[in-house]
Order: sequence, then C-alpha cells, then structure tokens
Amino acid sequence: MKLRNRLLMSIGALFATTSFLAGSCYAQGNYPNKAVTLVVPFSAGGPTDAVARLIAVPMGKELGQTVIVENTVGAGGTIAATRVARANPDGYTIFINHMGMATAPALYKKLPYDPLKDFEYIGQVVDVPMVLLGRKNFPPNNLKELEAYIKANKEKVTIANAGPGSVSQLCGLLFMSREEVELTSVPYKGTGPALTDLLGGQVDLLCDQTTQTVSYIKSNMVKTYGVTTAKRLSALPNVPTLQEQGLKGFEVKAWHGLYTPKGTPPAVLAKLNKALQTALNNPEVKSRLAESNIEVVPMSKVTPASLKEQLESEVNKWGPIIRKAGAYAD
Ligand code: ASP
Repeated sequence: MKLRNRLLMSIGALFATTSFLAGSCYAQGNYPNKAVTLVVPFSAGGPTDAVARLIAVPMGKELGQTVIVENTVGAGGTIAATRVARANPDGYTIFINHMGMATAPALYKKLPYDPLKDFEYIGQVVDVPMVLLGRKNFPPNNLKELEAYIKANKEKVTIANAGPGSVSQLCGLLFMSREEVELTSVPYKGTGPALTDLLGGQVDLLCDQTTQTVSYIKSNMVKTYGVTTAKRLSALPNVPTLQEQGLKGFEVKAWHGLYTPKGTPPAVLAKLNKALQTALNNPEVKSRLAESNIEVVPMSKVTPASLKEQLESEVNKWGPIIRKAGAYAD
C-alpha cells in the first residue's frame, strides 16, 4: 500500500512537472493569448503617453492582441517602474520609459528597484528633441531677454516639470545651472498637465519634448526660446538652438526604451521585439512622429542588446553628475 502510494505520488509529481513544463511551453508558444498592458509612467496626454499610444496599435496588430496603455503616474516615473519590476514576467506587462530610467538610481535615495537588474530589454524606441517654452504673455521674447528677466526676477520665475528624474526636470536643471540661477520648480505628474498650465498662463516656463508642442509654437500660443538639439529642427526651422545663442554644449534629447520584468522568457521577448520593430517601421507611425521631429532610432538599436548597452552607459554617465550636483529626490 505504502509503495503504491509512493508510486502514485511520484507519478503525480512527474505528471505535474511535465504538465507544468508543457503548460509553460504552451503558454510561451501561445503568447499572447490575452491583452498586453503597456505601462506609461506619466500622465495621459503627455509626450511619453503619445509615443506609447502611437506604437500600441501596430504592436497589437502584430501580436494579434490589444495592447492597452495604462498610465501609472507619480514620482518622476518611479512608481510605474516599481510596479513593472514586481509584475509577473509573462510578457503581459510591458513598460516604456525615457532616460529617467538611468537617472533614478542616483536621484532617489531609496529606489525600490534596480533598473539594471530588475528588467529585461525589448529595444530602444525613439529620440525626442526638447524646446524651452514660456507662457504667451511672459514678457521676454527671446533668450537674451529671458536671461535678463530671470537675473532681475530670479525665484519669482516658475518652471514646470514632470517630477524628479523626468527629462523636463533635467532640462530645467541644466538651464538653471548654465544661467547660474535658481528658479522655482513646479512638479506635475507629466508634462501634459504642465503644458496645459503653461498655455493657461499659470506657470512661466517649461522645457518640454517636441511631441505636443510644435503646433502651439507654430501658432504662437507660447513663447519659444530655443531647441535643445545641436542643429535646428526641420519642423521648426525658425527656432534657433540654445547652443547657437551662446549656451554651448546645451544638448538634451529624451531617449526611450521598452522593458519587461526580469525573467520574461526569451521567446516572449523575441515576439515583443518583432512587434516593436514592426510598429516603428509602420509608415503612418513614422510620419506622425516626424511631424514633431521625433526620430525613430535605427533598427540596429531596436534590440535588447542595444537598449541594455544604452541604459548601462547612461546610468554611468548621469550617476556622477547627479551625485556631484547633490540633486536628490525623496
Ligand atoms: N516625458 C516627460 C518628462 O519626463 C513627461 C511626460 O511624458 O509627461 O518630462
């Protein structure tokens, strides 16, 4: 009897193992068999959200399932990153983030995740230029006038951002350090709501990505002080670069990557990578992005290895800069 029981137990265990293995192989082979959630770490209506929604549709078509965009906002994108780091690594939770992924370890004293250890990489996505803007009725009309105005008014001048570690904050910090002035920073949960307040005149300045700003610039609904790229943008040929106006080396571009939680099976990552490449090659996606001068990275960068390399080198680049500046978030 005992032997029979033991036998039954081992057969049961064997069966359980085989069916588990079969189940997981089947699950991977069958992936995805339900909707995939794409987590965006900033507000709906902002630049990261816009890129996510643009790629979600063609990615979903390639995967044969809907890709649902979900905004998990706050703390400069780190709340969303924490959520994804702890999610099931089954490919049903994917994550888009910009260079904030690389600055967070140095900026946050207690970060509940490690960007270099807790994620798998799908690929780089886009590089987005930025532009320094003012509210429409803000007195300075160009960078020279802005410099004089902030010298006279200092911390009375307000500058919006999307929280610690966001590119809008980094761009603002770089501007303040180059101008050797401390302005009053106003954090939002994304530059979507920050731009709304800039348009409404509630905040003076915002360094934002071009994603949603080009049309407001063209229709003079904001003051424009310069783009953060080395060369002028084809979408905004009349807007000078900050560099050509004297801020040598002032260059900020928001690079983006697509991630999954650590432990996502390679076969699932390969499907997600293919879906991302397909989405970025989609002519409509490309032309929509080009309207805002957003560059799709070359396909050689839309790979896990390239994103890993980019993240590692950016963590090493920003860590010492942030620590030296003593810029910490809570
Ligand atoms: N990407 C923006 C930033 O970091 C935030 C956003 O997408 O809303 O400033």
